[in-house]
Amino acid sequence: MLDQTHLRNGLLRDPEAVGVYGRGATFDRVLTGLNAAITGLEAAAQPVMLRFPPVLGRRTIERCGYLHTFPHLLATAYSFEGNSRAHAEFVEAAESGNDWSPFQRMTDVVLTPAACYAVYPHLSGALPEAGVMVDVESWCFRQELSSTPERMRAFRMREFVRLGKPDEVRSWRDAWLERAQEFLNSLGLAPSLAPANDPFFGDSAAFLKASQQEQELKFELSVGVLDGVRAATISCNYHLDHFGSMFDIRLGADSAAHSGCVAFGLERLTLALFFAHGQNLSTWPAAVLDLLQLAHA
Ligand code: AMP
Ligand code: ZN
Repeated sequence: MLDQTHLRNGLLRDPEAVGVYGRGATFDRVLTGLNAAITGLEAAAQPVMLRFPPVLGRRTIERCGYLHTFPHLLATAYSFEGNSRAHAEFVEAAESGNDWSPFQRMTDVVLTPAACYAVYPHLSGALPEAGVMVDVESWCFRQELSSTPERMRAFRMREFVRLGKPDEVRSWRDAWLERAQEFLNSLGLAPSLAPANDPFFGDSAAFLKASQQEQELKFELSVGVLDGVRAATISCNYHLDHFGSMFDIRLGADSAAHSGCVAFGLERLTLALFFAHGQNLSTWPAAVLDLLQLAHA
């Protein structure tokens, strides 16, 4: 029988697709409150707010260098383009449980793997002297097959992205290492900070990881999400001039802007809140409910 309480409150595991979740009202309320609290963190800087759909131009992902580093996480959109005869064969293959991938062709879009990639193509050209800060959110997809809910294939990522002079971007990112810890502490989540451990692909993985760590490009804040499981919830990134050069984003006459971003995983943070404070919002600490703008029960 349909369990309505579960539907209302729960994180709904898709019975046919690993790592894909729906959500009920309570999970959604907490995530919405969390998102509003994140807005407050950079409100004083008045970032430019941009929202994007969960797909990106294929050319953008190529320019971001994603095929070199994380080809195994990327999903590409395919579609059917054939005639009626091909259509009949397509349906026939699907209905008999056969592989129907030969009937589809690659389109010019991919599923967005990180929210900030959508921003850079819009910033080509000269930036103002003070640089720019963007507030972006997008659904993201990563082909990571896992049956534990902190590792989803589709999830939302909220980011602040800062472009400007090298020293300004770096010190903004460094200040965020502190600020992100304070934010998580204020949510009662007891974070730990460590250099990132990205799952780079293939033979260059060890080299890419060592160079990311040596140049201190990426740090992650982990918190408890399930019994005995901690996971990264916020990452603080410095990209040097990688995106500035690739997308011709300039400061002054011809120097490429540097960039950095702070990325919040909204579903993962919400899971961590339920893990820390329990399933029943009425028992959550008042300070946490206030921060999430949730009325006390
Ligand atoms: P990253 O771009 O890998 O630094 O990811 C930014 C944030 O997105 C992480 O700190 C997580 O909070 C969240 N995130 C990344 N991968 C996943 C995933 N597979 N499922 C849920 N959240 C994720
Ligand atoms: Zn980013």
